[in-house]
Amino acid sequence: MTRSPQCFGSHGLRRSLPFLAVEGGGDAVETGWPRRGQYPAAQLSPGPTRRRRGELPRDLGTLFAPLVEAALHHGTMRVEVAGRFSSWGWRYEFMRVRLAGEAAGRRLMRLGFFAGLHGDEPAGCLALVRWLVGLAADPARAAGYEITVYPVCNPTGFEDGTRTNRAGKDLNREFWQRSAEPEVRLIEREIEQRRFDGIISLHSDDTCEGIYGYAHGRLLNEALLVPALAAAAEFLPRDSRAVIDGFPAHDGVLAHCYPGVLAPPAEWDRHPFDVIFETPARAPLEAQVQATVAALDSILAEYRRFMAYADGI
Ligand SMILES: [Zn+2]
Repeated sequence: MTRSPQCFGSHGLRRSLPFLAVEGGGDAVETGWPRRGQYPAAQLSPGPTRRRRGELPRDLGTLFAPLVEAALHHGTMRVEVAGRFSSWGWRYEFMRVRLAGEAAGRRLMRLGFFAGLHGDEPAGCLALVRWLVGLAADPARAAGYEITVYPVCNPTGFEDGTRTNRAGKDLNREFWQRSAEPEVRLIEREIEQRRFDGIISLHSDDTCEGIYGYAHGRLLNEALLVPALAAAAEFLPRDSRAVIDGFPAHDGVLAHCYPGVLAPPAEWDRHPFDVIFETPARAPLEAQVQATVAALDSILAEYRRFMAYADGI
């Protein structure tokens, strides 16, 4: 999903294919990447085609560079290829980052973090990179967790600065609907295989007046989201309107959202917690990043507290 370290993407042999195709499938590809000397490498994808001046960053290699560097120095973190796909003749690698926190006397809780599903919302991508670099240096902050992060879920949209992918699809309306979009199929496969205990999606909204989030009407989600919003409110105001994004809201918490958003499949018996955190896209990017990092730290702390409480019952 970036077009630098050796990947993103080499000029595809599939240029003639009229559709996007997931390559491989099955188990995720473990490359052992990154290794010294492999970064930076040829950047052969079309790159940002609709870059808007003043917006940062649209270069996936630049975005991933701090993660690559951190993974070289901290054995607890790995940058991996989760899958590959082609888009209009260009090949992309879909990256995930895994970080194992210190053991905490019970099985590690598996959390999945997703950003950049809308390519024109870089704040979540930047926040995840900064957060991960911090966690790699201080794994005690991630104690008790196995953290899997997908910093850019829509690589072509990220490069192009567009909400949709290069095929023009809003990926966050496509989940669990037999989507043909390779990014969606890759993420669905990851969700099915990794059996997360919790899923956190990061977005930005250019119509809102502050931070808010979706709790999907579930108590645990709300119990995690409310303190996360409070922690983030140190950096950005909360959107306190009664209606946000067309849905009723209470103190920045929404119970309902659009169908087809990234979420666990509805038919699962065991339902992981599942929150969507939104920053105001018109706010300064740095404030959005800081607010998101604070929210992520809060979610780790609060869920750890719930688990400790549950263990004591
Ligand atoms: Zn979004």
